[in-house]
Amino acid sequence: DALRSEVPDEVRRRAAELTEQIDAHQFAYYVKDAPTVSDGAYDTLLRELQQIEDEHPELRSPQSPTQRVGGTYSTEFTPVDHVERMLSLDNAFSPEELAEWGERVAREANTTYHYLCELKIDGLAINLLYENGKLVRGVTRGDGRTGEDVTLNVRTIDGIPHELTGDNVPALVEIRGEVFFPVAAFEKLNEGLVEEGKSPFANPRNAAAGSLRQKDPAKTARRPLRMLVHGIGARTGFDITRQSEAYELLAAWGLPTSPYAKVLDTMKQVQEFVAAYGGEQRHSVEHEIDGVVVKVDEVAVQRQLGNTSRAPRWAIAYKYPPEEVNTKLLDIAVNV
Ligand code: NAD
Repeated sequence: DALRSEVPDEVRRRAAELTEQIDAHQFAYYVKDAPTVSDGAYDTLLRELQQIEDEHPELRSPQSPTQRVGGTYSTEFTPVDHVERMLSLDNAFSPEELAEWGERVAREANTTYHYLCELKIDGLAINLLYENGKLVRGVTRGDGRTGEDVTLNVRTIDGIPHELTGDNVPALVEIRGEVFFPVAAFEKLNEGLVEEGKSPFANPRNAAAGSLRQKDPAKTARRPLRMLVHGIGARTGFDITRQSEAYELLAAWGLPTSPYAKVLDTMKQVQEFVAAYGGEQRHSVEHEIDGVVVKVDEVAVQRQLGNTSRAPRWAIAYKYPPEEVNTKLLDIAVNV
């Protein structure tokens, strides 16, 4: 009824305050590559806003950070629209939340399916547009619709083919992946920066973003960035039935795919995969891992489940508890 739906002033104020703080943190993180709070602290603010909106849905507007792909683009780069929108991922922070997502998928899917488990690479999302096999554009995710044109910088990254090879190269394909800074090289980079009297990066993710988003591509070229593929956007001239099969196709075209992706049958196996990489194996990989991404492998089921305004319903990111070893650096980290 009307009385009960009224939102107390202090709740309304708190929601506005959270929105303002989240927007400021997004600017520091996505535009400046220099976050001022830890990812854990950021996630907590977003969760609090989410809970307020769950209790008071009238506060949830399409502009809320809970409803948007959380990101923006800098005016220092040319803005470019993606052919197909780039989305974020919904999160699970516990085995219970992961199981709940699995139950929802089971309820809604009208056919059998498998889980595709991948490591969540802690880097920044990139969209590569290939036309007739040629790399014509590299664009950051931005707000999901529009990103930053970093084509010249992307061309300097080892392992990103300038031209696709092999059979049946399509007329158009958008390749989505993660650009990352290998952990071993990151330690060396920071040691070097400190020796030069410059401020180190807070973490490999920010080093990757800061290195890719340089005005001068020669600077990007000096940073040992790498990329791994984790999805396909717009495509013409071919289709796929399983995402895991698509990775085989992309590898055949010369694109860098991850050796860690695994197709599993049951949620129990998924939970085991998540637990394994949350432990010792977390540091056995060349890139930082901030979780595991679980996807429905069958594209027909992906299409059936569809997307929300900010994320696919057919995938979830299980986030490991943040390792805050570098939080001290946050105070002094700047974009170099
Ligand atoms: P996200 O990092 O939770 O997940 C979505 C992204 O995961 C995708 O866009 C993709 O780039 C990436 N990804 C990595 N491996 C993948 C794989 N195998 N398959 C599919 N996608 C994969 O969401 P987000 O919207 O990119 O960023 C939000 C997060 O960024 C926050 O939870 C927080 O950790 C961090 N953040 C921190 C601050 C801060 O101030 N510290 C500010 C903004 C955002």
